[in-house]
Amino acid sequence: MIILCIMIVFSYMYNQIILLVLSAISLLVNAIMMLIIMSIDMFRRDKILDIEALKKQGLTIISCKECGKENVLEDIFCIFCGDRLGEENEQI
Ligand SMILES: [Zn+2]
Repeated sequence: MIILCIMIVFSYMYNQIILLVLSAISLLVNAIMMLIIMSIDMFRRDKILDIEALKKQGLTIISCKECGKENVLEDIFCIFCGDRLGEENEQI
């Protein structure tokens, strides 16, 4: 009888520990996912802010003929699709 009671208590504790570990793992996974999403979001925001900062500096922004996205006039190739920019003043 006592042994059975001890076994029940042990199994209960074991279940509790498994639940605790599972919740801890899910929490950890959630935290990692949040970090990844936040870093991707920051990276995207950085790229947008970079173009805005370049515009404020007075650099000429031209749109790519191929994909229509903004590039600095000094760039030779589009940073988004790799197409050549400004074909009229080609250099070597
Ligand atoms: Zn392009």
